[in-house]
Amino acid sequence: MKIVAAKKILKANDQLAEENRHRFHAAGVFVINVLGSPGGGKTTLIEALHGRLPIKRGLAVIEGDLAGTIDADRLAARGIAAVQIATEGICHLDANMVSAASRELELEKYDWLFIENVGNLVCPAGFDLGEDLRLVLLSVPEGDDKVIKYPTVFQSSQAVIITKADLLPHFEFQVERVRQDLRKLNPNAPVFCTSAKTGEGIEEIATWLANAATGR
Ligand code: MG
Ligand code: ZN
Repeated sequence: MKIVAAKKILKANDQLAEENRHRFHAAGVFVINVLGSPGGGKTTLIEALHGRLPIKRGLAVIEGDLAGTIDADRLAARGIAAVQIATEGICHLDANMVSAASRELELEKYDWLFIENVGNLVCPAGFDLGEDLRLVLLSVPEGDDKVIKYPTVFQSSQAVIITKADLLPHFEFQVERVRQDLRKLNPNAPVFCTSAKTGEGIEEIATWLANAATGR
């Protein structure tokens, strides 16, 4: 019987992620890994940030999905450079996929590269892609208990973005509970309360990201 150790696979991923990070830094592009459930508003947030971030050269997106090109098409229709990774059933992106996809872009042409991960709060958290930072999204309809239920993703992200805040009047979702749960798990991560619909909180994330990119 042949046994493949998961630890070895993750080690290989980490090495490749370091290579990606080195290449991204050399090109002067700041890379953001966006995590969250399906339908949580990842593509919408990227679209909203595209309108608010300081962009000198350009903004590109690597889209991870099991199948189809809906999100990449949507971004391309807005004039955003987008590369689609079709994972063909794999429920997360890994550094190898991102390495291949990023070679489809002339990285020097961009100051921002967003990687929209496969919609999933579980295994994407285990794979370093070579990003500068990770954002995790939590939409109001998903419920305010997710920090406790999916600690790894919330612990390994540099900021938590509550999305669809315009729905707060319709759901039993307590923003304060998310803040409290996060304080125990990841006290340095800011929580942004946002709505792409009303524009609430988008400027704040853009400012925070711009500061993070400057301070890299
Ligand atoms: Mg999407
Ligand atoms: Zn997975």
